[in-house]
Amino acid sequence: MRVNRLEPLFVEEIPAELTSGVLYVSIEFRTTMHLCCCGCRSHVVLPVRPSAWRVTYDGDSISMSPSVGNWTFPCRSHYWIRGGDVEWAPSWSDERIVRGRQDTLAERTGDGPLADSEVPVQRPERERFFARVIEKLRSFLHHW
Ligand SMILES: [Zn+2]
Repeated sequence: MRVNRLEPLFVEEIPAELTSGVLYVSIEFRTTMHLCCCGCRSHVVLPVRPSAWRVTYDGDSISMSPSVGNWTFPCRSHYWIRGGDVEWAPSWSDERIVRGRQDTLAERTGDGPLADSEVPVQRPERERFFARVIEKLRSFLHHW
């Protein structure tokens, strides 16, 4: 069953059993975790870092940025968490996911996001190597 609202719960450690509809936040471990809002019960781990997700707590509810794209899960759900509300967004195509990763890569190396027309069809070997490293890191973070 889809969840359209996430209530924050600040914890020191993430519990082994998660409850759906709860967004667990560990300041100590700089991470958040929740069960995928589509209802598939996959564990969504979103690390809180300047280079990953940002958390805004207004004393009542939590917003997270950027959006949550569960591309490594079969459900491929995509949503925003804004003011505790789950705002559903369209799932990305494979091609869009690759482009999103290129944008992320570019941001992290300080080149800024690539415009559509600037995305090279065949990227240099070195860049593909870094893309693979980031890919591995991302899947590690998702499965941790
Ligand atoms: Zn899901």
